[in-house]
Amino acid sequence: MSAVRQQQSTGTQQRTITIRNPITGESVGTVPRHTADDVIAAVERARAAQKHWAETPFRDRAAIFKRFHDLILQDQDAIMDVIQAESGKSRRDAFVEIFALACAARYYAYHGWKHIRPRRIRGGIPLRARAKVVYRPVGVVGIIGPWNFPLLLTVDDAIPALLAGNGVVIKPASLTPLSAIWAREKLIECGLPEGLIQVVTGPGGEVGNALIDHVDYLMFTGSTEIGRKVAERAAGRLIRYSMELGGKNAMIVLADANIKHAAIAAAEGAFNNCGQVCINWERVYVEAKIYDQFVSELIEQTKKLRLGTGKEFDYDLGSLISREQLEKVEEHVRDAVEKGAKVLVGGRPRPELGPYFYEPTVLAGVTPDMLVHSEETFGPVLSVYKVESADEAIRLANDSRYGLNAAIFTRRRRYGERLATRVDAGTVSVNDTQLGWITLHGPMGGFKESGVGRRHGPEGIRKYTEPQTIATNLTNFQIGSFETALSINRRMIGFLTLLLKLWRRIPFLR
Ligand code: NAP
Repeated sequence: MSAVRQQQSTGTQQRTITIRNPITGESVGTVPRHTADDVIAAVERARAAQKHWAETPFRDRAAIFKRFHDLILQDQDAIMDVIQAESGKSRRDAFVEIFALACAARYYAYHGWKHIRPRRIRGGIPLRARAKVVYRPVGVVGIIGPWNFPLLLTVDDAIPALLAGNGVVIKPASLTPLSAIWAREKLIECGLPEGLIQVVTGPGGEVGNALIDHVDYLMFTGSTEIGRKVAERAAGRLIRYSMELGGKNAMIVLADANIKHAAIAAAEGAFNNCGQVCINWERVYVEAKIYDQFVSELIEQTKKLRLGTGKEFDYDLGSLISREQLEKVEEHVRDAVEKGAKVLVGGRPRPELGPYFYEPTVLAGVTPDMLVHSEETFGPVLSVYKVESADEAIRLANDSRYGLNAAIFTRRRRYGERLATRVDAGTVSVNDTQLGWITLHGPMGGFKESGVGRRHGPEGIRKYTEPQTIATNLTNFQIGSFETALSINRRMIGFLTLLLKLWRRIPFLR
């Protein structure tokens, strides 16, 4: 694979990592196993290129991402092949990555500037000062990504970082580095200076740590457990960071919901990408009045899902990523069944399709002593709970250490929006699954242990800048300049006191 060869030529490390297709076990590429020294060199290359890039007008930067937008749509088959080869996901799930990435490129290319352009602000003292805020790039941004969306969850964050004038060094997950390497080549083809974006590959504990030790800002997407370690290391250097972490997301179905719509959304939102999505549903709370109807519709929808692999859009769910992931799913289901939960549909591995296939599974009768109740499964397992009221549903939805994504299904849209403000989650959709993600004008991220900071929206690009306030004195005197430079005499105190009293009362000045 040319992408891999090019990346190898930039490193000094001789050892390589073989990337394998999780379904066939075949080698689909090799990447260098970089060292800490390689990471330092990559950061330096990005830093050198960033100096000139920071001076490049935003319009010219944006033009590259508009071209990138068009190119990923044009070359979609090639990148879907790469994504599928290294992750084992279905073609449709691979396309989701392209769709979402094109949206991010479009959003930041057309709207990024308004969030980071210099802003006039009110001066500190009326008539005496004027002021503005400028948003300066932080320098080099490190991005550590997970394996579940190998293209999207590396490049989605790189786009605003680059557009804000930074260099970027990406460390993709060791299981799935090929998509980020492919994207780097495409960005260079679109005109991005070669040094500005680097991809380093190798184990998180080594390559990831070296990255944290040398970049100026860190964007991490992954598990809460690793996120905690990454945060501690970044805090040691006092660099800023943002984190998109785990979830145990809840969907709420009220008695007046459109039952079929809600059941389709539950199956889609729980089982897409084989459940390996941070914002997927793992819990659904259904009002008692419609519980039976909803459950039978959910079972029907789940049974329709087609498991398999291939380059056509014939299948809905692909494979889980690894044996480790399969074992976690099996453990959660086994533990739940042993403690009294009921499998309503699914509940079995499907080795005849590939070593890590697992059926989409719906559980009922889940209780707090079961692993699946509160721990993130990150697989195709959805627990359905009966509740007596919206209040109970919200209380249970909020009873989690996570707070990433949620949804409320009701025919009363305004009521749904009001209830949403009581759910502790960074995004809440009303009558939809993952609308929050694609609402790029707004921030996306987690409450509680689901994250720190936000991606998307104004926050998603401003975080990659150092805001700087520039305040200019429009007069030729200092306040204390009547007697000594530091003196404020009684007369002046009287004047300042009067000024403060008046100031609060003038609407356009206060
Ligand atoms: P992970 O094990 O936390 O790994 C994420 C990344 O961190 C990988 O690149 C990994 O490298 C690296 N890493 C591992 N140990 C490290 C260390 N000590 N220092 C620095 N980096 C280190 O997560 P994952 O298993 O790939 O992804 C699944 C998790 O990600 C789930 O919990 C899911 O909820 C979460 N996630 C969250 C979001 C979100 O937007 N909130 C999105 C997607 C996924 P190696 O691959 O080399 O180990």
